[in-house]
Amino acid sequence: MKIDFKKTNGLVPVIIQDVRTLQVLMLGYMNEEAFNKTKDEGIVTFFSRSKNRLWTKGEESGNFLKVKNIQIDCDQDTVLIKVIPKNTVCHTGSFSCFGEKESKGFLYELESKIAQRIDDRVDGSYTYSLFQKGINKVAQKVGEEAVELVIEAKDDDADLFKNEAADLLYHFLILLKAKNFTLNEIEEILLDRNQ
Ligand code: AMP
Ligand code: ZN
Ligand code: ZN
Ligand code: ZN
Repeated sequence: MKIDFKKTNGLVPVIIQDVRTLQVLMLGYMNEEAFNKTKDEGIVTFFSRSKNRLWTKGEESGNFLKVKNIQIDCDQDTVLIKVIPKNTVCHTGSFSCFGEKESKGFLYELESKIAQRIDDRVDGSYTYSLFQKGINKVAQKVGEEAVELVIEAKDDDADLFKNEAADLLYHFLILLKAKNFTLNEIEEILLDRNQ
């Protein structure tokens, strides 16, 4: 991978993206020295146009960006770096320069909603009523949904397959809650395996 620094007068724009959620965190610039330092150290260093020097993101705040993946675009003049951010990214205290909150995607929202139904003991909620029946019942339901998915896998009805896949994910989230684990903990394991 080679960046065309001449084409961009020595500075390339660098998009910083969260490796876990693909949320865009910030944009900075790198010269060749900053790019090489970033590659060598595995921590993002920009060239700051306002400071007019190399700037390791986090050098004052401690909020470093740990490099997970570096990509160069189709015509070698823009870089995309996937990172694991430490704490917040923006100097205003926002999680991202483009949004206040960490966006973890709909599955995490669903996880919260499930937790809320259960913690608030919402009457008439299917989620809460299943939870109340205990871990064995919840686990059994996950098993049933898995079997239904396996059955649909043998067929070629896309709608049925996708619906069973959704059922499985939903019940899987209830089981995690019943076992007092979080989706994030499971995601961390998958991320670690993916180093
Ligand atoms: P940091 O690199 O996080 O230690 O912050 C050092 C200084 O860099 C801050 O005081 C800000 O002036 C600036 N800064 C930090 N984060 C950002 C950001 N995401 N975008 C632009 N400037 C930033
Ligand atoms: Zn380009
Ligand atoms: Zn910012
Ligand atoms: Zn089902």
